Order: sequence, then C-alpha cells, then structure tokens
Amino acid sequence: METPDPASAKPKVRGPISQLLKPVRGRLIIAAMLAAVGAMLTLLPLAVIAHIARLALSDADMAQTQVWWAVTVGLASLCAGLLLIAASELLAHLADNRLTHHLRVAIAQRLSRVPLGWFTSRASGEVKQAMQDDINTLHSLTAHFYTTLGRAGGAILIALIYLFALDWRLAIVSLLPLGGFFLFFARAMKASEANMQAFAAGMGRIDNAVVEFVNGIAVVKSFSGSARAPRSYRDAVDAFAEAFVGFTRPLVAPMANANALIAPVTVLGMVLVFGTVFVGLGWMEPLDVLPFALVAPGLCGPLLLLHYITHDLNHATGAARRVQTLLDTPVLEQPNPSEQASPNGNEIRFERVSYAYDAERRVLADVNLTLKPGTTTAIVGYSGAGKSTLARLLLRFFDPTEGRITLGGVDIRHIESSSLYRHIGFVLQEVRLIHASVRDNIALGRPSATRQEIEEAARTANIHERILALPRGYDAVIGEDAQLSGGEQQRLSIARAVLLDPPVLVLDEATAAADAESEVAIQEALSRFAEGRTLLVIAHRLDTVMHADQIIVLDNGTVHEQGSHQQLLACKGLYARLWAQGGYTDSEQQAVPSC
Ligand code: ATP
Repeated sequence: METPDPASAKPKVRGPISQLLKPVRGRLIIAAMLAAVGAMLTLLPLAVIAHIARLALSDADMAQTQVWWAVTVGLASLCAGLLLIAASELLAHLADNRLTHHLRVAIAQRLSRVPLGWFTSRASGEVKQAMQDDINTLHSLTAHFYTTLGRAGGAILIALIYLFALDWRLAIVSLLPLGGFFLFFARAMKASEANMQAFAAGMGRIDNAVVEFVNGIAVVKSFSGSARAPRSYRDAVDAFAEAFVGFTRPLVAPMANANALIAPVTVLGMVLVFGTVFVGLGWMEPLDVLPFALVAPGLCGPLLLLHYITHDLNHATGAARRVQTLLDTPVLEQPNPSEQASPNGNEIRFERVSYAYDAERRVLADVNLTLKPGTTTAIVGYSGAGKSTLARLLLRFFDPTEGRITLGGVDIRHIESSSLYRHIGFVLQEVRLIHASVRDNIALGRPSATRQEIEEAARTANIHERILALPRGYDAVIGEDAQLSGGEQQRLSIARAVLLDPPVLVLDEATAAADAESEVAIQEALSRFAEGRTLLVIAHRLDTVMHADQIIVLDNGTVHEQGSHQQLLACKGLYARLWAQGGYTDSEQQAVPSC
C-alpha cells in the first residue's frame, strides 16, 4: 500500500502575485500565448528575406513566382503577428481593468468590516499606498508583464529554433556575446551586493530625515531664524551621497562590458567574423550566413526586455504582498443571523471588561459599570488611565479581550453594526470630514434626511449661521470653499450625530479642538443635544463633569472610585485630590487609597 507523502499533504502556499491574480489568471495566460505567437509571426519576414536572397541567386523563371509567394507569406504573417500582439494587449488591459476593479471593491469591503480601532492605529497613508500606489504598480504586471514575457519569449524561442536548424555551430558562436552579458551582469550584481545594504539604509535615512525636516520646518524656522536644514538632514544627505558612490563604483566596469556584449553590433560582428571563417573552412555557403546576420542581432532586444521586466516583477511582488496583507486584515466578528438580537431598552452595562492592545499590558482590567437610561456618566482619570479605550470599546472600535458590554441586555457583539450605531452616537476628539458638501457631511449617517432636518441638526449644533456664511452655504465643499476651524468641524460632527438622534451618546474630549468662544458654542450645543439621552462623557476638565449623575474615576485601567461629585469629594480619595489640583497633572500622580 502506498503511504502518502507528508509534504504533499500540506496545503500549497502560493506567492502573493499568484494569489492576487487568480481571478484573471486564465486571461493573462491566453494573452501571453497570443503575444508569443504574434512575436513569432512578426519574425517570419526575416526568414522570408533570407529565402528571397537565396531564390534570387537560383533559376530566374522559377524564382519570380516564388518571390511573390514569399513576399505575400511574409506580409501576411507580419500582419497576423501584429494583430495577435494587439489582441493580446487588449486582453491583458481588460484583465487589468477587471482585476483593479475587483481589488478596489474587495479592499473597500474588507475595510468596512475591520474594527474602527484599526484605523486609529494606522496612518491613512498605509491604506492609500495599497489602494492607489500598489494597485497602480500591479497594473504594470497584469497589463504589460505577461504580454511582454510572451513577446520576448516567443521571439527568442523561434529565433533559436531557426538558427539552430540552419547551422548549430554558427548558432552557438552567435550567442556567445549574449551569454557573456549575463556573466558580466552577475559579476556586477555580486560587486554591488556588499554595498547594497548601505545604499538601502542611506535611502531610508534620507526619507526619514526629509519627513522630519518638512514636519519640523516651522519649529526650525522659529527657533533658528532660518529654514537651514537641521544637522540630521545634512548628515543623512552626505551619508547617502557616500553610499551611492560606494554602490555605483564597482558596477561601472562590469556593466560597461555587459552592455557592450548585448549590443546588436557585437552580435553582428561575431556572425560576420565566424561566418567568414566557417565559409573559408567549407562548413557553409556564404548565403547561409545571411539569416544569422538578420536574426541573431535581433535577439538582443527581447533578452534585454526580459531582463528589465524581472525588476518590475520585484516591485509587483512587494505591492501584491501589501495588498494581500490589507485583504487579510482581521475583521470584526459579526453576529450570525441566528445570534442576532435587538436591544431591549438603552441600559448599558460593562461586565468584567478587560482590554489589552497587545499581549504585554492590560489597559483596562475588570471594569464593571452601568449606564442607566437618561443619566450622565463622566469618566475621569489621569492621562493614559484608559478613558478613551473604555469609550471605544462601547463603540466597537475593538472588542473586549475579556468580559462583555451589553446594550438593552444584549451583548453588543450580537447587535448588527448599523443597529448599534443607531442606538449609540459619538462625537470624538478627532473629527473626520469627507471631501463632500457640508450637507452630505451632516447627512453621512442618514443620507435620506430632508433639507429641513439637516438644517435643524445644524441649528442644534450651533453651526447653522456659520454654514450660511459660506460662499455656497450647505453646498460648499469641505476643503474647497468650506475651510472650517477645529471648533467648527467639531460642531459639524455634532450636527451629524444630532441627525441620527441616538438615545445614547459618547463624547470624548469633544471640546479639545476648540478655542474659548467656540467651546462655549460647543458646550451649548451639546447640552441641548444631550437632554434626555444616556451620556458617557470622557472628561478632560473636571469643572465640566461636576453635574454628572455618576463619576467614574479610572486609575491604571481599573475603576478606582465611583459616585457623584459630592460623594467623591467627601471620600477624600483620588477624585478629591484631582479636584483640589484643579485637573490632571501627571507630575502629581501618586497612589491614593480608593474610598
Ligand atoms: P488621555 O486622557 O491622555 O487621552 P486616556 O485615559 O484616554 O488618556 P487611553 O487613550 O485609553 O487613555 O490609553 C490607555 C493606554 O493605552 C495608554 O497607555 C496608551 O498608551 C495605550 N493605547 C492607547 N491607544 C493605543 C493603541 N492604539 N495601541 C496601543 N496602545 C494604545
């Protein structure tokens, strides 16, 4: 009995490119084959020319008819070849279009299911890199790589078959310079290998220094009185220049030799010299040298092309890997239809909730908390105590690593996202406005809202008058003719939340981006909006929370104290100390017994 090979039992691991190109693989193979056959047909006229030359020296009567036939066949094959190449390009571009569309949709679908917290910990640059730059890089792979490979491969193959069929000895000699090219090129690569790391490190250093320089230019200018590049930037530039010289110097001689060898004139020279020798030795007729002179130099172009496209392949592999990583981003667990439930009421409970961003440290530990409907709960504590994390867990930016959060008695993991966000609205410190009209920005969560409802929400958020002052009012586009201050953006995001009319509202340091005047407007807007709702407020200033129904004092991720302002003051614990200090001062942090 045959025993199964354990290696064959393992799942086959495919490279990022082959995984990504799966939806269009068949089309690309056909395109490459069409291109290969097309390239072969376009080379046929060269053989026809050699044939005509042979006929010209033979019996005249017979030759004329045959010449016309040969010309017809040559032209027909040239036209057919060009048509096939055009068809292969068209097919590859259609495949590329299909793949680009498929990937953009797949990435957008994936990103719509990843936890919201994923976006806060990543620069939008990473997503932009994959969705724009990397997909564009993949264009050169799908639209050009396979057809180029087919064309170059087809041309080389047919040329080799033809030359070897004519005379294998002259074929080998004609190809010697091409073999020499690869030898010198390998030597050049080996010589530069040692300096490659220094070159790459220098590039990285200069990139970082440029970003640092540009980001810090305001500080550099105001403190040193000029925009002179800081020392780290100049050092990086000098180091890079040195690394560049180190990298290129050993390349010069071998690359010059390699380029000389792959020049068509070198190959032609070899053919003519050795052709003459072989004719002298009586190994071949002078006319037999002509096809070599016509075809062998033509191998240089396709070979160089093959060589260059391997570089594209390296870039495309990196791009494919990044796109695949994005497509594999872990998504937020969604409830099965059988598990899905609707909340019964708006009471929120944190039950033994713990959370860790990474395995090393728990940011929240064993938090128990109840938010009664219609009450205000304020979370206070030193910076880093876990206040924002607590709010984000309620918004499902992440899911707790232990414990659960319920809304109306249902674990929020079992509530469908759209339903959850209909119940819980939020106004966070970081306001995200999209490149669209002010109206669309307000109606983001409820595109069906009427003009009147949108304006009403803007009035509640104290931003209506400011919007009317914009050149095109509600039709003004953010970033174009609507330039809003931090506080105004904050009020726009409040209007957005107001329009959704959620029974529960999470406010995380909502006035942080505002100036004093704007802050008053924001506070007014919020108190109007908050009326009658369940509120969870992350407080950065204690005077804004003293009227809360309950205050939760977080310390190192645990609930240290809990009660009303008066109760907590009477306890003379951490809250009382914070209150006496007039706020959170890190330097004053020290252990205080809870009450
Ligand atoms: P602040 O008042 O300064 O905003 P906070 O009380 O809201 O602080 P959190 O933002 O919840 O505190 O952060 C709690 C801890 O978790 C901090 O030590 C912080 O460094 C860490 N932390 C926050 N966000 C992340 C993240 N995305 N990845 C890893 N660690 C994080």
